Amino acid sequence: MSQPLRVSVPLNQGRDYDIRIGRGLLDEIGIEARDLGARAAGIVTDETVAGLYGERVKASLEAAGLRCGLISVPPGEASKSFSEFARVCDGLLAQKIERGDLVVALGGGVVGDLAGFAAASLRRGVRFIQAPTTLLAQVDSSVGGKTGINSPLGKNLIGAFHQPRLVLADTATLDTLSEREMRAGYAEVAKYGLIGDADFFEWCEANWSGIFSGGPERDEAVAACCRAKAGVVVRDEREDGERALLNLGHTFGHALERLTAYDSARLVHGEGVAIGLALAFRFSARLGLCPGQDAGRVANHLALAGLPTRLQQVPGGAGDAHALLDAMAQDKKVRDGRLTFILARSIGQSFIAPDIDGGEVRAFLEDEL
Ligand code: NAD
Ligand code: ZN
Repeated sequence: MSQPLRVSVPLNQGRDYDIRIGRGLLDEIGIEARDLGARAAGIVTDETVAGLYGERVKASLEAAGLRCGLISVPPGEASKSFSEFARVCDGLLAQKIERGDLVVALGGGVVGDLAGFAAASLRRGVRFIQAPTTLLAQVDSSVGGKTGINSPLGKNLIGAFHQPRLVLADTATLDTLSEREMRAGYAEVAKYGLIGDADFFEWCEANWSGIFSGGPERDEAVAACCRAKAGVVVRDEREDGERALLNLGHTFGHALERLTAYDSARLVHGEGVAIGLALAFRFSARLGLCPGQDAGRVANHLALAGLPTRLQQVPGGAGDAHALLDAMAQDKKVRDGRLTFILARSIGQSFIAPDIDGGEVRAFLEDEL
């Protein structure tokens, strides 16, 4: 194993934690958990990840002397539900997980959000380790402390801020991830460059294939993204301001997910984000805020990585401009027909535009469709 990379998240009130990134780190989870003083660990995972990595993680924890159990939920977004939440909490209680013990979230963002929320709620707060196994989870959802489940009334509406004690990103686990999930996660990687780091975006243009093939570039990219996200989270933990920049591409992306009924066979989150990123740049260029050349460069790079960048690429269609605008208006970032968008002045220079006219967006979408 090469030397793991480390990113620290210096939150106040003793809640600071480390993110460790490297190939093979899952085997060290037992030592890490023991060092945190836990006597028991409740692993929460999904059935797919359980089959691939469950035994290894359990063996590492048991070898370090921890009592350990494993709860798995069906893979997929539907598991971020009240019923799975209750099953996970009751399962952890049955395992006698105490305040001083640990919950281990082993899996993608679904498991991280669900297990993190269970940890936040159980006994009014049990410590937890994020062991993310998708690219999206390693660069985004495992860092920052947002946990939660979905309500029938909308995504992520029930939840809590609960920071992990440690994030252990074993980048070798991405070797078993489907290409489609890998590409979807890559949209979020590119996003960090587009938000605030033009050099990183340029580096991605030169090195993206190494991220996919599992070269050292993969670890470097995950570390760079975690550094960027940790920086934003430390400055704005509860999303009162700057943290909103992380939503670049997401106002359009979420609308597309809504219009495709969150059916992952049609569109997964990262694909919606890729189209959203390309749209955010083209829209910025149309408003005269950003050079058209930058918008072209963004779309070209995402397309090269195998991601969609146009509304026409949404399987089954993205609906008309009216439906799209409606879907956007359901987003929490809308007030009186004025939309809050994250737009860009150039690659690496995004900003919060709080007062975009809905009519302007509609005209843009009509031209795009
Ligand atoms: P996911 O957790 O559903 O994982 C995608 C699929 O990959 C699943 O079928 C899973 O079983 C499989 N899988 C996971 N790891 C694997 C591996 N190593 N090898 C093979 N298969 C593997 O989806 P995701 O994209 O990781 O996460 C999406 C979720 O993350 C959404 O619910 C979203 O709301 C949430 N999210 C949360 C935050 C946050 O800040 N908390 C941020 C972004 C996204
Ligand atoms: Zn996202």
